[in-house]
Amino acid sequence: MVRRACGTCTACCTVMGVPDLGKDYYERCEHEGRSRCIIYESRPDGCRNFSCQWLVGAMEEWDRPDKIGVVFDITSGGDLGRIPIALEVEKGASDRGRGRRAVRFVAKNSPVLVVSPDGTRRLEGGPPDASTTLIGNAPGADMSVEREIPSD
Ligand code: SF4
Ligand code: SF4
Repeated sequence: MVRRACGTCTACCTVMGVPDLGKDYYERCEHEGRSRCIIYESRPDGCRNFSCQWLVGAMEEWDRPDKIGVVFDITSGGDLGRIPIALEVEKGASDRGRGRRAVRFVAKNSPVLVVSPDGTRRLEGGPPDASTTLIGNAPGADMSVEREIPSD
């Protein structure tokens, strides 16, 4: 499997929840500097152990999360099992340009839960009748999400 480097990306530092820091999803981390973590050497295990799907080889090299505006992870999708989750860094990033292309690419093989910073969420791809109740602590937990048929 390809193992990439984060480089100057810090997209997950804003998007992901980090319980060690008491940081919720979509709360910008107080340790996030300009294109880097300012406590990198002593960052908590939750940060040290997190790898987004791009970092472990999914999608193309140029689809780095800060460049496409979407962070891909895996979440619990209730009846659907473990499914990809696409967290927009900025609202609408999954609907345009490279973010849109990446979501469509992943949705060819699996339902994808798409989450926006304002809390809206939709399910793309998968079986035509797919709907699920999501569990776990990811955004969308305990909420029913119906499959959305993309317009493009
Ligand atoms: S979003 Fe992925 S590539 Fe970007 S900093 Fe986080 S783990 Fe690294
Ligand atoms: S502590 Fe560092 S690595 Fe962890 S979320 Fe904050 S800025 Fe990112």
